[in-house]
Amino acid sequence: MIYLDAAASTRPSEEVLALFQELSLKEYANPTSAHGFGREAGKMLEEYRKRLLRLFRVEKTHQALFVSGATEGNNLAIKGIAFSYQNRGKKILVSAVEHPSVLAPAEHLANDFGFELVRLPVDEYGRVLPSVLEGAMDKDVILVSIMGVNNETGAINDLAELAKVVHRFPKAYFHSDLTQAIGKMDVPFEALDLFTFSGHKIHGLKGSGALVYRSSIRFSPLLDGGGQEFGFRSSTPALPLNATLVLAAERSLSQQKASLEHALRLRKELLEHLSMDEVSLNSPSDGSPYVVNFSLKRHKASVIVEGLSREGIYVSSASACSSRTDHPSDVLLAIGKSKEDASNAIRVSFEESISLEDVVRFADTLSTLLKEVHPR
Ligand code: PMP
Repeated sequence: MIYLDAAASTRPSEEVLALFQELSLKEYANPTSAHGFGREAGKMLEEYRKRLLRLFRVEKTHQALFVSGATEGNNLAIKGIAFSYQNRGKKILVSAVEHPSVLAPAEHLANDFGFELVRLPVDEYGRVLPSVLEGAMDKDVILVSIMGVNNETGAINDLAELAKVVHRFPKAYFHSDLTQAIGKMDVPFEALDLFTFSGHKIHGLKGSGALVYRSSIRFSPLLDGGGQEFGFRSSTPALPLNATLVLAAERSLSQQKASLEHALRLRKELLEHLSMDEVSLNSPSDGSPYVVNFSLKRHKASVIVEGLSREGIYVSSASACSSRTDHPSDVLLAIGKSKEDASNAIRVSFEESISLEDVVRFADTLSTLLKEVHPR
């Protein structure tokens, strides 16, 4: 098989699985239990938390919550901040092309809790320009959420510049969903008030993730209960799962440079083999090389994705969460693509184990299918 859907999920590494098994078998006490066995697990959990903060070089300024993935992290960042700081203002700014796990909680706050939601317009590739953000900021804004890398197009936002704009307003926090950015590009972590990522996108396990936040921030919790995770996220801490998240993030950042060079070679090879008579590119040339998104000019993407799947080649027809429908992609519509193009896009996403030969085989198979399958 050729798996070209790493932006949707990745294979856990052997090291991650070994650590999960080791800690599950050896450190199964509740990390909040008062006895020695529990205290040992609790101490280990805090050591892993520190390692995570050190990895991002924010150990002096930030704290980390272990959560179940980016969806929970994004929900806690958006709703937790909104409910906690609503006395300061009720305006929330998000980019128009955020993942649904940012957009939906923000819409929920606007629809049911009286918050004002502004969807920041993006450029032709899905980036929020700092000047656009500047024009939308005012003293009522309490939170701005703009992703590092777009999961559908690979567009990269200039987080350092955007953070500067937000920080001219002392009441506003800047959150970034880094799910597609961790280990894939340099991130100005210290400039972000909050950021989220998920383990399974970086060869960790599904069900693991983190929300890192400036230590002075207080959240209104989504999960009330025993008061674990500083009272912001109750539930018995999953030491083995959380430890694997830290290991996966460490490995991902330590391999970032080599992995990026590989992804750049893969993207170059793919672009050389794609026929621009048949497809039009939706990804920016200076975006993340891990994601290449293109629309089929004459064919239905869902049919071609199925044809590729029958050949053992796996790609997405839009973002993974909406790819089982023929719905036009909201992200592609927001960056100005036609409904036809937004309904017939294919996303190829890379990881380290993909070879140049895999990319060529994908391109050749695609080209054969485009000749064999009837146009739409
Ligand atoms: N944000 C982005 C940018 C994503 O790509 C994803 C995964 N599709 C998520 C958030 C949600 O991650 P999870 O499903 O692991 O909660």
